[in-house]
Amino acid sequence: MESQIAPSWPPERLDVRAFARASAQLQGEAPLADWERLVEESQAGLQPPAVRWSAQGETRAQTGGPDQVWLHLQVSAALPQVCQRCLSPALIPVEVDSSFRFVPDEATAMALDDEAQEDLLVLSRDFNLLELVEDELILAMPLVPLHDTCPAPLPMSAADPQFETATEQRPHPFAALAGWKVPKSS
Ligand SMILES: [Zn+2]
Repeated sequence: MESQIAPSWPPERLDVRAFARASAQLQGEAPLADWERLVEESQAGLQPPAVRWSAQGETRAQTGGPDQVWLHLQVSAALPQVCQRCLSPALIPVEVDSSFRFVPDEATAMALDDEAQEDLLVLSRDFNLLELVEDELILAMPLVPLHDTCPAPLPMSAADPQFETATEQRPHPFAALAGWKVPKSS
């Protein structure tokens, strides 16, 4: 066993197994402008609040096998979008409350993906938790953003071409998983 001195948990390089074994918690917040892909998915002109997130590690004992490694993630944000009813800017609240089970490698994740109820990710000692926060927010964005109540009445747009575009651009969850490969050593 390696000894670990004063574990701290850098969210960009998280040792997931150690984090889970310690039942550790992490939380943070950052302005939306810090999240490059969220900025790309957002409309300029509104002042969004900071993205707030928290993560909790957990191990679950298994009979006849190693402990399962889990990570629970909660994220709260409001993303500047264009309301598809009135076509004016809208701050759309997006909440994430997800749990992930980490498996040893990508082959295991792919083999288990069909039967597992939970989202599977690949264990890493330098897992980028902030990237997961961003991925989950993008996945949780509504396909058709709408104000709860539009500020001004406007004519209805019948066939809305934005709808199909939004559907096509939405990444499949498994596409996100494939992004978790361990970086090649060069
Ligand atoms: Zn609206």
